[in-house]
Amino acid sequence: MIKKKSREEIKRMKQAGHIVALVHQEMKKIIKPGITTKYLDDVAMQIIKDNRAIPTFLGYNGFPACICASVNEQVVHGFPLENVILKEGDIISIDVGATYGGLVGDSAWTYPVGEIDDEKKRLLKATEESLFAGISFMKDGNTLDMVGEAIEKVAIREKLGIVRQYGGHGVGHNMHEDPFVYNYKTGYQNTVLKAGMTIAIEPMLNLGGDDVEVLEDKWTVKTIDNMPSAHFEHTVLVTEDEPVLLTTLH
Ligand code: MG
Ligand code: MG
Repeated sequence: MIKKKSREEIKRMKQAGHIVALVHQEMKKIIKPGITTKYLDDVAMQIIKDNRAIPTFLGYNGFPACICASVNEQVVHGFPLENVILKEGDIISIDVGATYGGLVGDSAWTYPVGEIDDEKKRLLKATEESLFAGISFMKDGNTLDMVGEAIEKVAIREKLGIVRQYGGHGVGHNMHEDPFVYNYKTGYQNTVLKAGMTIAIEPMLNLGGDDVEVLEDKWTVKTIDNMPSAHFEHTVLVTEDEPVLLTTLH
């Protein structure tokens, strides 16, 4: 069942989203060659705590950190680690959730480490574009398949792989609520969007093929062909009018 959110719930989701955006603002500043992904997790944790919020990911199904830090061919759910040191030319996807007043904000972004090559630049630009293409269809009366189709169109145009086993989701009192959102047109994703729904849209696109696998740590998802992958996500409120991004600075 898809739960619509009240004005009060949306207010708290905006606060949660603001904190998530503060984390991303800081990540963008500090990501550079030579730092560890564990350090990024420590910084994110401090920001979330300083803002009287709870790191949503920590302990979620046993996840051991407050951010997911996925480097290069890693797609999502990478562990921040002391021995993962970023180097010039890497890309790193940071996914972070914060819970404020019982409500969740969830947002991911892929960052360049120093100077990256043109193919990685193209991947980041197109994946971000696909996120906003999908969001532009988050309107009362549209179906979720319209959102998936908009994302897929960008991937097809850029000849990028689409990760199919993971996707967007309703978000609110829980990080993962109904509905699931495929990042492509399925032909059956006919859920109709209504004002008051809050949904995280999160395309994951690859420079190579679609296929991914989970590493032995049971969490880290990587591309099978070891080609780089990018991930961009915002939590979005559907309204009668334009969609509202909740995971921005408010
Ligand atoms: Mg996320
Ligand atoms: Mg999410």
